[in-house]
Amino acid sequence: MNFLEERIVKDGVVKEGNVLKVDRFLNHQMDIDLFNEMGKEFKRRFEGVEINKIMTIEASGIGIACIVAQHFGVPVIFAKKAQSINLDGEMYIAEVESFTHKCKNQVIMSKKLISPKDKVLIIDDFLANGCALQGLISIIQDAGATVAGIGIAIEKGFQPGGKIIRNLGYKLESLAIVKSMDCEKGTIEFAS
Ligand code: 5GP
Repeated sequence: MNFLEERIVKDGVVKEGNVLKVDRFLNHQMDIDLFNEMGKEFKRRFEGVEINKIMTIEASGIGIACIVAQHFGVPVIFAKKAQSINLDGEMYIAEVESFTHKCKNQVIMSKKLISPKDKVLIIDDFLANGCALQGLISIIQDAGATVAGIGIAIEKGFQPGGKIIRNLGYKLESLAIVKSMDCEKGTIEFAS
């Protein structure tokens, strides 16, 4: 097991409905030393890939993306999930179905923050059905920018997102791939 898998086994909780709770270290309380390890590992896995921007989605991807970005020395942009008075000018908008909230959201990115010269590494906490990633990919494509790669903390390998995104030809690196989990026994198995 790698460092993230060990932490998931130690502090993750398997809930009904194929939900893994990691709020003790990843997306409610955040373990910054762990995020730093993740940043180091993503830097290693994307060695030699040209990246000038990291992109994530509100809200739980932001903390991870910011720490990872320190290892790449690039800025972070994040897609917003709601219109607000702070969003002005022209925007790219994509529809995203939320796995955890079971509803449709728009994800929004100001056009001034992404351009055709950008080589973007997408970072997110979870990959389940792949809807969030597809929303981000569509914004990057609309902007004429390039998806340089995708880094995920936890991929739920028993859901279709990973296969869909890899079949589209993207370099997708997940630090922990959950093969199966059982909410009654509380067990989690990882893909090797
Ligand atoms: P997808 O769009 O790939 O179906 O789901 C990705 C998003 O749903 C992630 O950004 C994450 O916020 C949320 N998500 C999906 N599965 C889980 C899960 O098992 N646990 C938690 N905490 N969030 C999840």
